[in-house]
Amino acid sequence: MSEKIYDLVIVGSGPAGYTAGIYAARAQLEPVLYEGSVTAGGALMNTTEVENFPGFPAGVMGPDLMDSLKAQCEKFGTKLVRDDIVDMQLKGDLKTLTDGSGNVLKARSVILATGSAYKEIGLENEKRLSGRGVSWCATCDGFFFRDHEIAVVGGGDSAMEEATFLTKFAKKVVIIHRRDSFRASKIMIDRVLANPKIEVMWNTEVLDVLGADNMTGLKLRNTLDGKESERALTALFVAIGHLPRSELLTGQIDLDSEGYVKVEFPSTRTNLSGVFACGDLVDHTYRQAITAAGTGCQAALDAEKFLSHH
Ligand code: NAP
Repeated sequence: MSEKIYDLVIVGSGPAGYTAGIYAARAQLEPVLYEGSVTAGGALMNTTEVENFPGFPAGVMGPDLMDSLKAQCEKFGTKLVRDDIVDMQLKGDLKTLTDGSGNVLKARSVILATGSAYKEIGLENEKRLSGRGVSWCATCDGFFFRDHEIAVVGGGDSAMEEATFLTKFAKKVVIIHRRDSFRASKIMIDRVLANPKIEVMWNTEVLDVLGADNMTGLKLRNTLDGKESERALTALFVAIGHLPRSELLTGQIDLDSEGYVKVEFPSTRTNLSGVFACGDLVDHTYRQAITAAGTGCQAALDAEKFLSHH
């Protein structure tokens, strides 16, 4: 019996992956889309209201938006698989992908849309107390800290969003930021600064997370005068950005110095024939749901063109 060769396998299921699935299925490429075993839907599954995705003037909850994209993918026949790809061999005309259940797929083209993962501060006790005070997801864990005094570290939109959301539960939210200004968008900064439950500690970095079984406080340093201090806090939400999820690609595809996949801008072509990349995996500049969806569309169109020429 001859082995099935797929025209297109899409790896990743954020706005980029699902949008690629919608376009590729409508182009009759019969795509298979690996959603991930625990991360299906991508980063938006951990957000609350998305206010800036065009077409939703009243806002839309992140998970609802992803459910809609997924349903649209399925409507046109994309085969969705709730598993991870654990190995990819992408050189040559036929690509080989292995999933977490041991299935081996052959494909003529691949779209990479694996997104990014939360960045860690890099402290030993941050890891040790993860799930016991330290968290990367306010919507998942905020509830546990009702009436507590807790911290958010970071100065971007994620930190603003997490801090604002956490005031629903916490008695007080302290934003710890290493500089004297936020890089977040003005509307989100204004919301934070107007919230009486939020305090900002400017020019402050987290030196250590304190606590034996659960977090009890933070060791901090003022970045201007170097003074160290301790503060009693029961949770730390880390919102300091993301790193591209490109670990499976190292050594076989061109990455930039930060690990993002390089593409032949304005296309989504990588240095490997038949391999395309989109979404947060390639983008450290815009990183919006709508820009990820846009590049997912581009990747499907690029793959369709590639397949029609081969
Ligand atoms: P980001 O914009 O890269 O901001 C990361 C923040 O963390 C920065 O303030 C940075 O400080 C700080 N930081 C980085 N490494 C650190 C470290 N080791 N220790 C302490 N602080 C550290 O990341 P983001 O907030 O996750 O946002 C990523 C993208 O998603 C952005 O384009 C954002 O607009 C978008 N986003 C949009 C929304 C929305 O519109 N609803 C919500 C969330 C995210 P410095 O400022 O000093 O560099």
